[in-house]
Amino acid sequence: MTHVLNDPATFAAQAAAGFAEAYPDHVIAVPGGVIRAAASPVGKVAVVVGGGSGHYPLFAGYVGMGMADGAVLGDIFASPSARAAEAVIRAASRGGGCLLTFGNYAGDVLNFSAAAEALRTAGIDTRIVTVTDDIASGPPQAAELRRGVAGGVMVFKVAGAAAERGAVLDEVERIARATNARTRSLGVAFGGCTLPGASTALFALAPGTMGIGLGLHGEPGVAEGPVMPADELATLLVERVLAEAPQDSDGRAAVLLNGLGATKYEELFVLWNAVLPRLRAAGIEPVLPLVGEYATSLEMAGCSLSVTWLDDELDRLWRAPADAPAFRRGNASGGARRDPMLDRPEADDAREATQADPGHPDASPASRAAAEVIVRCLAEVHAALVADEERLGALDAWAGDGDHGRGMVRGASAALDAAGAIAADGAGVSTTVLAAGDAWADRGGGTSGALWGEALRGLAGVLDDQAPVTPVAVAAGARAMRDAVARAGGAAAGDKTMLDAMTPFTEALTGAVEQGIGLIDAIRSAAIEAARAAEATAGLTPRIGRARPLAERSIGHPDPGAVSFALCVEAVGRALVGM
Ligand code: ADP
Ligand code: MG
Repeated sequence: MTHVLNDPATFAAQAAAGFAEAYPDHVIAVPGGVIRAAASPVGKVAVVVGGGSGHYPLFAGYVGMGMADGAVLGDIFASPSARAAEAVIRAASRGGGCLLTFGNYAGDVLNFSAAAEALRTAGIDTRIVTVTDDIASGPPQAAELRRGVAGGVMVFKVAGAAAERGAVLDEVERIARATNARTRSLGVAFGGCTLPGASTALFALAPGTMGIGLGLHGEPGVAEGPVMPADELATLLVERVLAEAPQDSDGRAAVLLNGLGATKYEELFVLWNAVLPRLRAAGIEPVLPLVGEYATSLEMAGCSLSVTWLDDELDRLWRAPADAPAFRRGNASGGARRDPMLDRPEADDAREATQADPGHPDASPASRAAAEVIVRCLAEVHAALVADEERLGALDAWAGDGDHGRGMVRGASAALDAAGAIAADGAGVSTTVLAAGDAWADRGGGTSGALWGEALRGLAGVLDDQAPVTPVAVAAGARAMRDAVARAGGAAAGDKTMLDAMTPFTEALTGAVEQGIGLIDAIRSAAIEAARAAEATAGLTPRIGRARPLAERSIGHPDPGAVSFALCVEAVGRALVGM
């Protein structure tokens, strides 16, 4: 339960602003996140980390000398947008390229990959290393599909130290990959966490039980068992994590015993007292171990054990000095913090770049009228999503992270604002839909935010600022939306995603238009198909996205993204009837 807040919608942004104000010597706020307050040497590789908020000290707490150069910060448990990542990397970049490293979650991969591609085109070589340390989220044979949890701290620390020592981008990337490949984590949860402003927890555990293998976003564990004494818990964690020790382990390891938010430091020390002898009995000697809160999940009760098997190179980098708000090591302060006499023009540039008003192309009266129609449709879509926000969140909480309702409302609200402003300024329908897509991608967050951004951009590509909108163009637009989502997300039919509602909608709409049925009726009948198809996803097993590791839990419940898509197209139908 979050007791201190103004508005759930601004919670993460206000927390980020307060954080930057609390550590002015270490960090400076830029659009999309924070960068170091002190400029790094020219030519240094920028290590940029990021992801959703709600995990402090992940990610902002690790920006500082010897660790990250910048952090991209999303909303609570929601991926930051590609635009946010691009802005932070540009501001943090010192000419040596960028290593972008983050936990392996679909939304983050989608948004950060898009940012990296755009940056590479713009001449900033950006490499991606995803953290995949969570052994509960996939078998060892498919380790690259696992999600990232607290082991990210080791990857950020070691890669950050390599970059600080002047390693070139290839080297920093290699070292980050090696650290991730040698890192394994397992966590347990004793109680769920509640999104700011929500009244119920994302998941609940029966009294006396614990979830084994929890995710960092409040995803429930993959198995449940009785709560056990600290000694037995230590045995469970140590045995399962050490079962994946690499062949060449010489016993040296960076070890993190992490609290998830509501588990007290004293409890962690009791557990460490039991973990340490078990590690030693297994031949592991922890090097500068960490016991405390390093990667949290709001106020989730729980803890995790992470182990990185070190070699000479990683050992040296793990021990190297660091000075970040949430991570200090060695004598690291001199010259690493903000010099009040020196500005960081990069931060001002980043702010100006995001405020620039690009204007819009001229449009015909017919296209401007269509833009007004789009704005009214978006208003109805937004209202429908607000009305069903809780239901969508609850659907997403079965096997995902419970943020789908919030993310859709945020995205639709931003899209409505952006479209309303540019249409009022006389933009045509294509430009208006494009502005809506950009805003949705930027503010919606999560996988669905990125995909809705792509969908609307796809639609904008089919529409025109001059030609009037015909039923055939609308059907082509629906296809373009579906194709954009398929391309960006890589999902196939039956994977239990929004595509499983988009495809039947597109087919029904195309068929109705070909039969000469009027546009409004065609959309309304296709929307009924979409709703039917969305409900039918209840029988499917998710094969992609955040719900995949917990696929079984989702059976019997429809896919949240498919349900919200149907709600949106139903709302469009209602809006058109009302005009
Ligand atoms: P996140 O999963 O990042 O928390 P949301 O909860 O907002 O994002 O959205 C989840 C929805 O996104 C899913 O229900 C599914 O419909 C859709 N989705 C996830 N991954 C994909 C994908 N690769 N392709 C298409 N849709 C996807
Ligand atoms: Mg979600």
